[in-house]
Amino acid sequence: MTSEIQTSEFQTSEIQTSEIQTSEIQTSEIQTSEIQTIVSVNLPADEKLNIKKHRLSSGEGRRISIVTGIHGDELEGQFVVYELSRRIAEHPEFLHGTVDLYPAVNTMGIDSITRGIPAFDLDMNRIFPGRYDGDMNEFLASQIIDNLKGSDLCIDIHASNIYLTEIPQIRINEITRDELLPLAILANVDFVWIHGASTVLESTLAYSLNHIGTKTLVVEMGVGMRITSEYGLQLTEGILNLMRVLGIWSGPVNEIRTPVISQAPDDVIFLNAPVSGIFMKSVRHGSHLKKGEKIGSIINPMKGSVLQEVLSPADGWLFTIREYPVVSEGSLMARILRENSKNDPRKG
Ligand SMILES: [Zn+2]
Repeated sequence: MTSEIQTSEFQTSEIQTSEIQTSEIQTSEIQTSEIQTIVSVNLPADEKLNIKKHRLSSGEGRRISIVTGIHGDELEGQFVVYELSRRIAEHPEFLHGTVDLYPAVNTMGIDSITRGIPAFDLDMNRIFPGRYDGDMNEFLASQIIDNLKGSDLCIDIHASNIYLTEIPQIRINEITRDELLPLAILANVDFVWIHGASTVLESTLAYSLNHIGTKTLVVEMGVGMRITSEYGLQLTEGILNLMRVLGIWSGPVNEIRTPVISQAPDDVIFLNAPVSGIFMKSVRHGSHLKKGEKIGSIINPMKGSVLQEVLSPADGWLFTIREYPVVSEGSLMARILRENSKNDPRKG
């Protein structure tokens, strides 16, 4: 099979839109708890691709949407969605609004633990807002946006890729700082990373939704293909806190941590491998480092030699560390937030 054939098959496959299928799974105290198919398309081999959400609703009030699985190899959000659903079902009396959970928007990606959309080699987070009259994937993207549009808040949960582990963090762009920062600091993450306007990616889900007025926060945490339950529980608490602030949740919420906030693009140092080899880290993720402190070594197993000691170029906080030991020249090994009293409230 060539990809050319696959593409043309998909383009000619009939796209079925709209009929929303619902199956009720629970009625007891929540007015609505149902799995809804938000969009369905035919696949070449007589199968269907369905993108679904779980709606939990008290029937009135505001709406929060939790999206995950845009990248099929990022699984951290699976546990968060499970845990939210479980917590709400346990205490439906605390729900005063609508919670829409989208565990797997890139369904085939999650099924096959593939980052992009399988068979298309396409990053789903580069095709938004999509097009109703576009090809299959553009059409799917347009229907996802349509479904999320109008939420009072949307949270798009990513894990890192398989190479890097991330401290729970929210990434926002300078251009949406005023709208999003007040919400981001309520989400119980450790870090809010404000990116410069020049790095904005207009084809992401978050950009597309923020652009049309649906506030969307992007969470990055953990590592690809794994679930870090500690981080999942932390973010669940943060989402419940946001729901409480929005008036959607009246249940108890544990104490929320105050995140470190990056103030300028220069605050973040990227450490790339100067040589190819095997990276052995020697500090814990989340450590506070002194300038010159050893982060790890790049070794050569063949010769039994150390190719390069990796040292911290500044005092700072190690919020990203390489999980995957093989490095090529240029591979990202770590990110460090420069330590200064302005951006770290915990340092007083
Ligand atoms: Zn991602």
